Amino acid sequence: MITIDAEGTVLDVSAPPDINSLQQVEFYSGALIPGMVNAHAHLELSYLKGMVREGGGFAGFAAGLRESRDRFSAEDIFKAIEYNDAKMWAEGVQAVGDICNGGSTFEAKRRSRIVYHSFVELFGLNTGRAEAIRAFALRDEAVAGGLRATVTPHAMYSLNEEGFGLAAGDDANSPLSIHFMESPEETELFEGRGEMHDVYTTAGFSTHFTASYSSPAERLVSRVPTDRKVLLVHDTLVSQREVDTVVSHFGRNATFVLCPRSNRYITGLTPPAELLRSNNVRVAVGTDSLASNHSLSMVDELKCLSGIPLEESLQWATMGGAQALGLDGELGSFEMGKRPGVVLLTGVDWTSRTLLPSAATKRIV
Ligand SMILES: [Zn+2]
Repeated sequence: MITIDAEGTVLDVSAPPDINSLQQVEFYSGALIPGMVNAHAHLELSYLKGMVREGGGFAGFAAGLRESRDRFSAEDIFKAIEYNDAKMWAEGVQAVGDICNGGSTFEAKRRSRIVYHSFVELFGLNTGRAEAIRAFALRDEAVAGGLRATVTPHAMYSLNEEGFGLAAGDDANSPLSIHFMESPEETELFEGRGEMHDVYTTAGFSTHFTASYSSPAERLVSRVPTDRKVLLVHDTLVSQREVDTVVSHFGRNATFVLCPRSNRYITGLTPPAELLRSNNVRVAVGTDSLASNHSLSMVDELKCLSGIPLEESLQWATMGGAQALGLDGELGSFEMGKRPGVVLLTGVDWTSRTLLPSAATKRIV
């Protein structure tokens, strides 16, 4: 039994023997879980639902984005953002780590009851001070509107050294959210081969950083201080070697953020959930965007992590994300004094403690 006050603050968690005779108790069939944290989304891309062909790899993804970008009005884009924000709230999402390349989500976020951390993304192999100034101005616009927002590097492969330093040099107390080892092309680039390497070379982009670092992980630990919180998003190609490199540098400051349905949609790869679990590292879960997913449903992501005991994957979807975003003082668990939200999870096979295909979540508080 979870006891809350009118504001949703947790007063007590207990198992009273006389529960049936107590007043003001509501009963639910299912599991009560704290509000979930979607640790990686791009809410601004919500209008692209269904526009990118599934299984087309990165080339197909980029082509889908290019072809559909001009087809939608600002109003279409805003409506899609508002709709999906409301849907996430109703399904029990309490906080989101959300990537921004523009300001189209700011108004909806200001009105939303979801806590957003907006990561303003910087990328580009010719990025200099001018691009960084634009990103910082966007960050300032969000902050002026009362939002939590910081600048972050997009990935280890998409930013030159100067740009990476500027993006990672923002407020040292804020987390960074970095797309990390999503596809084999990223690692191959650092080895001077592969599709990404060829595309960059043909386009005349300099990847001088590959002369200094032999892998994405090496560049990461060389450029980001140990005490910085980092969200490493995707990790599909992460092996024990990268776990060791990342953990020996960052310790508990690193969170591995898994987006299994997005990986299935784009690359067909599966993130190394069991490996991360056996290393006892911090893991969180994200949906990525509707350009590479069918919905922003957290419970549908958990259905893809069926090899992980449900108690643990639920921790990843709640406390893992809250800790990654520095929100665990208020959210992520039923602890006295927190206001984490209360969500009903239904569709659990209680014998095997796994999620049924029909599993769903619904906000209660
Ligand atoms: Zn992403």
